[in-house]
Amino acid sequence: MIHADDGSLTQEQRLMRDSCRSYVDDAVTPFIRSNWKQEWDMSPGDRLPRSILEGAEAIGIRTLGVPEEFSGFELERETEVRTFALISEEVARGDSGLADKLVQNWKVSILLREFAPKHLQEKWFPKLLADPQFLLAHCLTEPRGASDRWLPYNVPEAAMHTKAVLKDGHWVINGRKQFISNGYDASLYVVYANTDSSVGMLQGTSSFLVPRDTPGLTVTKCNETMGCRFMNNGELVFEDCRVPADHLLVQNTALGSAGQYFRAGKIIQAAKNLGVGVACFERTADYVQNYVQGGRILIKHQAVALRLADMATRIEAVRSLIERASKAVDEGHPDMDVLCNMAKVYASEEIMKVATHALELHGGNGAMLEFGIEKLFRDAAIFLHMDATVDVSRMKIIKTMFPATAGKYAGPEN
Ligand SMILES: Cc1cc2nc3c(=O)[nH]c(=O)nc-3n(C[C@H](O)[C@H](O)[C@H](O)COP(=O)(O)OP(=O)(O)OC[C@H]3O[C@@H](n4cnc5c(N)ncnc54)[C@H](O)[C@@H]3O)c2cc1C
Repeated sequence: MIHADDGSLTQEQRLMRDSCRSYVDDAVTPFIRSNWKQEWDMSPGDRLPRSILEGAEAIGIRTLGVPEEFSGFELERETEVRTFALISEEVARGDSGLADKLVQNWKVSILLREFAPKHLQEKWFPKLLADPQFLLAHCLTEPRGASDRWLPYNVPEAAMHTKAVLKDGHWVINGRKQFISNGYDASLYVVYANTDSSVGMLQGTSSFLVPRDTPGLTVTKCNETMGCRFMNNGELVFEDCRVPADHLLVQNTALGSAGQYFRAGKIIQAAKNLGVGVACFERTADYVQNYVQGGRILIKHQAVALRLADMATRIEAVRSLIERASKAVDEGHPDMDVLCNMAKVYASEEIMKVATHALELHGGNGAMLEFGIEKLFRDAAIFLHMDATVDVSRMKIIKTMFPATAGKYAGPEN
């Protein structure tokens, strides 16, 4: 790759990036390359060795976002989102599913830091810190479609199907959540449920902290995803699941409050996909400088060089937009929402093109599981529909830019 713009990074950012790079080069990449069948182990609990998360713990990145008063590792606030993006890119360069595992911990920790009442922080942050295998998950999506929530389609008919009712000092939750990253493994879930069906979801959705061992909560399956397989994406069912009343996070306006999570989340996720692109480029650059066809190494064929240049250019363009968007979020710039959605769309589509070039330049080897290029292609492809679809994200860009004329993109116009 071209040289990093180290001059624009803080000392903390350089340190974090470098220690993540060493962790990935020393522990993650060797594991992935020599255990390429592991992601297909049909016992999801056995897929990732404990030592990988312990390695993340050792460099302090499993519990990022936990406040210092709970012995967590807090990044400098003024540049926090940018630093998260750098770390996320580095980890995903090793494995995108592993990055997802950690990313959920960071995003939910930020949410708890910002919104959880003190007694819940005091109860759950120490548990998260104490166990290197402790994971968090964020449960929004239901079988009836997530795009309505992202847009949002704010009418009572589109409210969450999962419902919570306060009864005898407990919130009783009934419903189902699907496609949840870390859903199969997490020890603690943030769950969104309808608490007022007479209003739209922005006024009638609450969020709760639900420990995994709560009676009435069943983790019904680990989804066998096309990519990012180490994230152990899962499905949850709530049947009269009784959560203590004090495990309420935000009452009725939870979706609005979650902007704190969504903004940083989109940047961190876009940076994660960038890491997949960087891995595609590094592997391909190595390949075309060693593999010979037509009497010369591939890079000496102009058609190959053009594709390689295209990969590098797209990667740098995605990186620049992520930098701009993360800076906007860190500074609370008025354009931060539109830039976050642009970063999501651009990172999804450009890295997909980068992965397609990688597949092409590896010829038949690109299609072979043991070569690892098809894995990167799958990891890039699955991102198109994570954190909202690209089309819904595009609609959000236009809705934000032209609020008076763009309309709602859901339901009748009037
Ligand atoms: C790997 C993975 C990990 C995920 N992790 C999580 C997680 O941790 N937590 C969580 O809560 N969710 C998670 N999700 C869910 C994800 O956010 C949703 O899948 C995504 O937002 C799309 O929602 P949907 O699948 O319900 O599609 P739908 O909303 O059913 O959309 C189907 C199609 O219709 C289009 N569409 C929908 N509405 C409109 C409209 N009004 N106008 C035009 N087109 C429209 C969409 O763009 C899409 O093409 C994850 C998904 C994946 C694939």
